[in-house]
Amino acid sequence: MRQLIIIGSGPAGYTAAIYAARANMNPLVIASSVEAGGELMKTTEVENFPGFPEGIQGPELMSKMLAQAEKFGTDVIYDDVVKLELDGEVKRVHLGNGDVVEALAVIFATGSAYRKLGIEDEARLSGLGVSWCATCDGFFFRQKTIAVVGGGDSAMEEATFLTKFADKVYVVHRKDTLRASKTMQDRAFANPKIEFLWNKEVKHIYGDQLVTGVGLVDTQDGSETTIDLSGLFVAIGADPRTHLVHGQLDLNPDGTIAVHGRSSRTNIPGVFAAGDVIDPTYRQAVTAAASGTVAALDAEHYIAALPTDKLALAAV
Ligand SMILES: Cc1cc2nc3c(=O)[nH]c(=O)nc-3n(C[C@H](O)[C@H](O)[C@H](O)COP(=O)(O)OP(=O)(O)OC[C@H]3O[C@@H](n4cnc5c(N)ncnc54)[C@H](O)[C@@H]3O)c2cc1C
Repeated sequence: MRQLIIIGSGPAGYTAAIYAARANMNPLVIASSVEAGGELMKTTEVENFPGFPEGIQGPELMSKMLAQAEKFGTDVIYDDVVKLELDGEVKRVHLGNGDVVEALAVIFATGSAYRKLGIEDEARLSGLGVSWCATCDGFFFRQKTIAVVGGGDSAMEEATFLTKFADKVYVVHRKDTLRASKTMQDRAFANPKIEFLWNKEVKHIYGDQLVTGVGLVDTQDGSETTIDLSGLFVAIGADPRTHLVHGQLDLNPDGTIAVHGRSSRTNIPGVFAAGDVIDPTYRQAVTAAASGTVAALDAEHYIAALPTDKLALAAV
């Protein structure tokens, strides 16, 4: 049995691992089978993570975090957690391969999942022109016309990135102002390949085998238009990945995991939460990393306070 298992391999999970490993806790990170490295694996240049004045590519930043965690004694399993038993002093973590790993403490750092439009044909055409990941799929849209839905940082980043491939990128936004930071807005406004379609919502996605167009409705006057395109990138936000802990951990009304004050402590002793899964507001790599630090320190204090016979259960 472990002292500590960390679920999630984004900035929160890896930073928690760095701190826990340096505290000789020999943590185990469950990194996921297909999304190891978290959200920053889906982006290119990260210019706001301290310590990299020239900027750094998202995947490179995450591989550096992983290397730093492993250097101090973190073990990593590339599998998904499918079930959690968090009650009791020993926490049981069930993996996709059927294994069950146990620990005295768990840090839950599963981040957020992309939000869907919730319209007909979105799921059917997923991977056939509908995408949630510009970095993954942008290459398939060379010299095409595509659209990005959304008005936040993610939408601006995706739209700007996609102009590397596409001839034309529409940004479809249901309001007439953006939520994105000014820097991101300015970058998108200055890009000649990007055209903003204000006050518009996607109501239909057309195409049999592949996406061929979308139907838009004007949110002001209800008028409908159709535009021909080959790709639709959905960038309208994300929801905290909490399904594994429903009924076990307390959640806030916004869906994030509830923690005590500035700590990472959840309602279950020995279970800590960190990163975007507890954060409805800031959702940045550096805030997630800081949150991972808090969780590792909280877990360390929790384990240090356990009776010696309980601590002896965990092989270090
Ligand atoms: C396109 C884009 C660009 C961005 N650019 C920036 C930027 O420039 N600067 C910045 O600071 N922030 C940026 N962000 C935000 C930043 O990526 C997130 O705030 C940050 O990654 C959150 O870290 P996290 O560790 O909480 O979660 P995540 O990075 O989402 O990591 C969560 C991890 O948990 C894993 N996981 C989930 N469920 C399971 C399971 N059942 N079993 C095992 N593992 C699981 C996931 O696979 C993932 O590895 C960007 C985000 C996006 C989408």
